[in-house]
Amino acid sequence: MAKGLPKRSEDYSKWYNELVKKADLAEHSAVKGCMIIKPYGYSIWEKMQAALDKMFKDTGHSNAYFPLFVPKSYLSKEADHVEGFAKECAVVTHYRLKNAEDGSGVIVDPDAKLEEELIVRPTSETVIWSTYKNWIQSYRDLPILVNQWANVVRWEMRTRLFLRTAEFLWQEGHTAHATRREAEAETVQMLNIYATFAEEFMAMPVVKGVKTESEKFPGAIDTYCIEALMQDGKALQAGTSHFLGQNFAKAFDVKFADKEGKLEHVWGTSWGVSTRLMGALIMAHSDDEGLVLPPKLAPIQVVIVPIFKTEEQLESIREVADGFKHELLKLGVSVKFDDRDTNSPGWKFAEYEMKGVPVRIAIGPRDIENGTVEIARRDTKEKKVVSKDEAVQYITDLMEDIQRNIYAKAMDFRAELTTDVSSYEEFKEVLDGKGGFVSAHWDGTAETEEKIKEETKATIRCIPMDAEEEDGVCIYSGKPSKRKVLFARAY
Ligand code: AMP
Repeated sequence: MAKGLPKRSEDYSKWYNELVKKADLAEHSAVKGCMIIKPYGYSIWEKMQAALDKMFKDTGHSNAYFPLFVPKSYLSKEADHVEGFAKECAVVTHYRLKNAEDGSGVIVDPDAKLEEELIVRPTSETVIWSTYKNWIQSYRDLPILVNQWANVVRWEMRTRLFLRTAEFLWQEGHTAHATRREAEAETVQMLNIYATFAEEFMAMPVVKGVKTESEKFPGAIDTYCIEALMQDGKALQAGTSHFLGQNFAKAFDVKFADKEGKLEHVWGTSWGVSTRLMGALIMAHSDDEGLVLPPKLAPIQVVIVPIFKTEEQLESIREVADGFKHELLKLGVSVKFDDRDTNSPGWKFAEYEMKGVPVRIAIGPRDIENGTVEIARRDTKEKKVVSKDEAVQYITDLMEDIQRNIYAKAMDFRAELTTDVSSYEEFKEVLDGKGGFVSAHWDGTAETEEKIKEETKATIRCIPMDAEEEDGVCIYSGKPSKRKVLFARAY
């Protein structure tokens, strides 16, 4: 492993890119904007998937799978939807290659042109609602509570590993309901699940809110979101839950007969989080030595590093290490014993710091004599010598403490970087100074929102759900405003 990261305070963006590579999470691929997720990175994603999947299933959802390709005509059935996604769609036009006659390689066979061009799904509402048309006839067929784990493609121009890629992995929930009220409740329920996941598993505080008209999902009535703050003071939209109203049911003619036999359009929702969460996790907690992972999502929660010179020493350390491993595994803690003799203990310490392993146990010959081990925590880098017999309890308590501590640290950071302002001058000063979330009155118009964005690069992240009504005036136009909204420069 190449040592050393650029400092966050010097070049945050470079720090992030290097960290993703050095912690063995992902790398760029031959196709611009796409990424290779490496085994260590993927195992974090799998942990995220497992936790989310359980929460989806506990609330009555089932997984299904819909195709990668969408007939082009489907996309245009919902006017806002096509308008929003057309600019970033990959299109399949042919289904065969052939050898060029001049021997210059393979070319697209012009005789193999598709009758109807296909779109690589940027999201699956259209395929799914065209299918729901066949699944739904009466109120007895509702609700449908489906989720899929899949990849999607959005031809993004400015990409960054995990945070914004042209192909990304995600889950997309698509539900159908008999009433508006039920669909709205589902939208909020899923937003709450995302917020709980972010806070309890990722140890990342989020603001729950509603997007403005101009920031909402193309085809939705309302988009709810969770917004997180990264260590450079920029915001990141970490998940979205959309109330679709009857828009897709109308576009795909999906109706159900209610108890009285009256036909009505179905109400819908969709909701998703993506591999962007990996980027959020990295940016929320990590430091200049590498990743800091919350124990609940760490693929390796405890690493044991032996410090030895002779084979005999290693063997007696192995005996103790195996005992720990056995006991910790029984408690559901994942443990790695790194007995490689190809690298020094110091090298291994740096490696596991880079990879964010929450707890490190070091055992040397003196520990064997004294019946002790040295336990180090990744978040604060504190070390403690603990008696062997107390170590398992100490470690399980420590993991809970780390989970709590990094959440508390992120909370404090966010509190420090959330500022209420009452004038445009103050607003710009904060943005150019410490950054972060800026809470301010806004007149509710798209024009003001756009002007502020043009002049400051700050966008309205959301109208927080817990924002209290409060009379004020818009910081830009001076027009009346009923509540404050949250602005930030964002990823
Ligand atoms: P949307 O369907 O636009 O509401 O997006 C659903 C989720 O995917 C949101 O949580 C977004 O943050 C995330 N997302 C959107 N575009 C990208 C992208 N290019 N790369 C990674 N994640 C994305």
